Amino acid sequence: MQRVLPRGEIEGLEHTRVPSVYLPEPRYVFKERAARLRQLAAESSIDSYLHLMACVVDAQDKVFNSLTAITGPTYEQVTASLKHGLPPLGTYLKSRNPDWINILHEILQHVSSIDSIPADSKSVVSNIKNTLESNPDLINKFADSLINQEPDEQMSLAWAPFIMAALQVYFTSMAIGLGENAPSESGTFGVCPCCGGLPVASVVKIGGSSAGRRYVTCSLCSTEWHIVRVTCTHCENTEKVLYHAVEQGNEAIRAESCGSCGNYRKIFYKEKDHNAEAVADDLASIELDMLMGQEGFYRINDNPLLWLPRD
Ligand SMILES: [Zn+2]
Ligand SMILES: [Zn+2]
Repeated sequence: MQRVLPRGEIEGLEHTRVPSVYLPEPRYVFKERAARLRQLAAESSIDSYLHLMACVVDAQDKVFNSLTAITGPTYEQVTASLKHGLPPLGTYLKSRNPDWINILHEILQHVSSIDSIPADSKSVVSNIKNTLESNPDLINKFADSLINQEPDEQMSLAWAPFIMAALQVYFTSMAIGLGENAPSESGTFGVCPCCGGLPVASVVKIGGSSAGRRYVTCSLCSTEWHIVRVTCTHCENTEKVLYHAVEQGNEAIRAESCGSCGNYRKIFYKEKDHNAEAVADDLASIELDMLMGQEGFYRINDNPLLWLPRD
């Protein structure tokens, strides 16, 4: 475990004219994630899981691209939310319309039709499908529990990535639908300015006006928003932030820990690896999570595509 505390170069990088919020790119959001998962699988000890999740993200991409209009907030509702400093999609965290259930159904259909999916995963998919038909309210309850980061005890954790995959397509589609009416500022600290979801991880960008700036990616809608570097993404503390890496591991990956709240999230540096993608790289760098656990830090939220039992 190697620790470094880079400070000093940060303040100069914070320009006021640079966008604080980036909506997800419809053409790339799921496509790039799937490609990155496959790339990372080539050198990973959890390669089969990364391949499985790449298939799930392929399914997300297919469903996302074939979506007809989703019922999102009206212009008046968006304006009213922004006026009160609230994420315009925040009400959908608790009260989603049935579009998302249809999305889940479609994703499960796609995944079950892939020949290379292992039998045990096919049986997970088929169990979710059956429950979706017999008891959609239960699936909604499970989705609520995942959004709240407190997985329902009745639900197998193997179900979580599939349910999250549908929620991601649903929220990503609505975030993109905000278009010019999307929030332009980061808003309430620690939650997505579009949907109120939690960040997965951070990426320090390269190129253009955002170069050197750190953006966190929403675990639900994939919106990226700016948080000043060397700041705990959970509690905003700036005094007790440390960086951790796996010895002789990928230089592009660090865990940013906070001595004040005891949590950490990962941060990826594009200047060291141009293809880094928040969800995929966070999932693939599970070794760093194990080390952080040994160091006594907590992962503040699960990766949308991997949910592990809590202690
Ligand atoms: Zn979001
Ligand atoms: Zn903190």
